[in-house]
Amino acid sequence: MTFAATVLTLYPEMFPGPLGISLAGRARDEGKWSLDTVQIRDFAIDKHKTVDDTPAGGGAGMVLRVDVLAAAIDHARAAHPDCPVIAMTPRGRPLTQARVRALAAGPGVTILCGRFEGFDERIFEGRQVEEVSIGDIVLSGGEPAALMLLDACIRLLPGVMGAPSSGSEESFENGLLEYPHYTRPQEWEGRTIPEVLRSGDHAKIAAWRKAQSEVDTRSRRPDLWERHEGARVQSASGARREKKD
Ligand code: SAH
Repeated sequence: MTFAATVLTLYPEMFPGPLGISLAGRARDEGKWSLDTVQIRDFAIDKHKTVDDTPAGGGAGMVLRVDVLAAAIDHARAAHPDCPVIAMTPRGRPLTQARVRALAAGPGVTILCGRFEGFDERIFEGRQVEEVSIGDIVLSGGEPAALMLLDACIRLLPGVMGAPSSGSEESFENGLLEYPHYTRPQEWEGRTIPEVLRSGDHAKIAAWRKAQSEVDTRSRRPDLWERHEGARVQSASGARREKKD
């Protein structure tokens, strides 16, 4: 099955961009995913091909018109009726690896890229568009965010990543950051590789990695750690309840 990516943008020349090389580029050549870009401007309704207008209520910048956006979305949906439509916006739900995994397991994704001040709010309910943010930062346009989302999906598609196991232990997959990695040389500027990793004792190595992953998550990402611990406590008490029943 080919994962169908469709990007609605005012700058189609930004695609495939980085997704045309390396892993993603090869996967596209092999037909594991496809890319269509839709020029939003083609759906403007006046002879000047206007896509934006001044914000209602006043203020700086310009807002993408809802009627133009709707026409572009309708066009894309006709081609890929089963693909969810996602708008990249800092006001959206923060993107997670779980959402990426769910998207990668589906038929594809249609992505709407904003520019200027963003979208007329009515588009989201009016066309059942999911709002997604890539983090608490503000970009000048949705295109780099769309590239990011697609990159994260594509590497999870069957047969794209070299070793199939390299996905499951990674950061966020189990609610934790991954353990740190090392490779040769054994000693570099006086710094050595942790002794345990050279022991050849697989059980000891696994235990060390698990401990590192927990220590690093706790210190670097207390938010992730809290959620992880919350889930653990909940599932443990669930198991206890089940035993009693
Ligand atoms: N005025 C908006 C920002 C507009 S930035 C606000 O303050 O919320 C212009 C476009 O860049 C947005 O429409 C969106 O498509 C994209 N963009 C900017 N930051 C983003 C983020 N963190 N995640 C996803 N898309 C983003």
